[in-house]
Amino acid sequence: MTDTLADSRTSPREFTGGVPVVVEEIRRRPAAERQQLLDDPGFGRYFTDSMFVARYRAGEGWYDARLTSYAPLQMDPATAALHYAQSIFEGLKAYAQPDGSVATFRPEANAARFVRGARRLAMPPVPEEAFLAAVDALVDADRDWVPTGPDQTLYLRPYQLATEPFLGVRPAHEYLFLVIASPAGAYFPRGVHPVSVYLSEDYIRAAPGGTGDVKCAGNYAASLLAQEQAIAAGCDQVVWLDAHEKRYVEEMGGMNLFFVLGTGADAELVTPELTGTLLPGITRDSLITVARERGHRVTERKFSVEEWRAGVADGTVTETFACGTAAVITPVGEVKARTGDFTVGDGTPGPLTMALRGHLLDIQHGRVPDTRGWLHRVA
Ligand SMILES: *Cc1c(COP(=O)(O)O)cnc(C)c1O
Repeated sequence: MTDTLADSRTSPREFTGGVPVVVEEIRRRPAAERQQLLDDPGFGRYFTDSMFVARYRAGEGWYDARLTSYAPLQMDPATAALHYAQSIFEGLKAYAQPDGSVATFRPEANAARFVRGARRLAMPPVPEEAFLAAVDALVDADRDWVPTGPDQTLYLRPYQLATEPFLGVRPAHEYLFLVIASPAGAYFPRGVHPVSVYLSEDYIRAAPGGTGDVKCAGNYAASLLAQEQAIAAGCDQVVWLDAHEKRYVEEMGGMNLFFVLGTGADAELVTPELTGTLLPGITRDSLITVARERGHRVTERKFSVEEWRAGVADGTVTETFACGTAAVITPVGEVKARTGDFTVGDGTPGPLTMALRGHLLDIQHGRVPDTRGWLHRVA
């Protein structure tokens, strides 16, 4: 039995330009089973009862938008994305609010980035309103899956892939857009601990003119070996340097980086500038705003490994942290490199790192007023 969302009070009815969102009856797991999964969700292991799917065909545009039961996809073995990685994704979270509602954080920014990613991979963009409608529809349908434990969230994964069964190399004529959701536990359930990082000198993540500034699947495939090398060197994460000189710090794994110069109220923040090879993180952008509002100077500029190492040695660089949707803020402690190891501060999370982390989490979980309109009420 199917029905459109027309009678629903809160959910969007339309995906895009006259394409209705069809709502199927969802096969739901029993409440007790759901609760068991929500008690210790981890990250990316369990998925909710529903998923959002829409299709695209050249000449026809987007069609067949539906909220349906979470289930495996059937794919032709010649599916273009499986061969040539014409595929992008997003990551954002829904947060249970103290008043019992559910809100996503700056989803418009994810929608806009998804459009830029689609253009870079020569895919038809999902209109921003359609992206938001899809995310809202899924969160609304699975609102019982939004966990309410401390720092728990519902992680949302919109993605788009080329589904045309064709082995010729050209942009595909058929695509799928999907949104799935996965409950996520607190990133640091036993307190915040700094990560150790390995400076990648053998591999690069992104080069000028490449795809480093969009969230395409291939960027991640190409990063895995360097991440393994970091682990083999006894580190938690890889730090990427610029492709050309291997001199400037760009990112840590799938997170942006910040460096704290000085201490106390006068502390300044430096974050690598968006040269086109960095992913413009929404957490990065939010932290720039929050830090400036707290009275800190924030500069976007190139930041070299030498400046990092020398700054740590002479006490100029007091803290370093990485940021992204999944972990919010992760302090960086030990740094390993062929050119010599060093440790930021005393190896414990720095005060500004922890203050900014708490501030952003408070905004996202609705514990302080949302003065910038960053929260988007969904359900
Ligand atoms: C997703 C991502 C980030 C963080 O972006 P957010 O919008 O803050 O989650 C940073 N770097 C890379 C490479 C990413 O893929």
